[in-house]
Amino acid sequence: MKIAVIAHDGMKAEMVGFLRENQDKLEGAELVATGTTGSHAEKGGLKVHKFLSGPLGGDAQIATLVAEKKLDLVLFFRDPLGKHAHEPDIQMLMRLCDVHNIPLATNPAGAQLLLDGLHKKHS
Ligand code: PGA
Repeated sequence: MKIAVIAHDGMKAEMVGFLRENQDKLEGAELVATGTTGSHAEKGGLKVHKFLSGPLGGDAQIATLVAEKKLDLVLFFRDPLGKHAHEPDIQMLMRLCDVHNIPLATNPAGAQLLLDGLHKKHS
């Protein structure tokens, strides 16, 4: 199971909390993340492969994995109240999830449902 995690700044603490709470379900899963989200996750005790920071191309790198069908799940905690310089990359990532039918959650509630479902499918 390979899972990408991305969180906008206002959602990073929530992402780390989510990952820690779900550590049992993430056991054996390979986590990849945009750079700063990944650093936060590491500080929270998780093992994660970090790509570039989102604004520097990290979302685009994760989008490449999506296009190559190398991800099982994308968890993207978006901050709907923030403005982002890399909005085109974000749109690209979400569009490619739809193109390739890769499960994508854009908020914590959706992420929980998808992770529960994926965990059930793989156990
Ligand atoms: P970051 O990128 O984890 O490097 O902050 C997240 C994003 O794409 O906004």
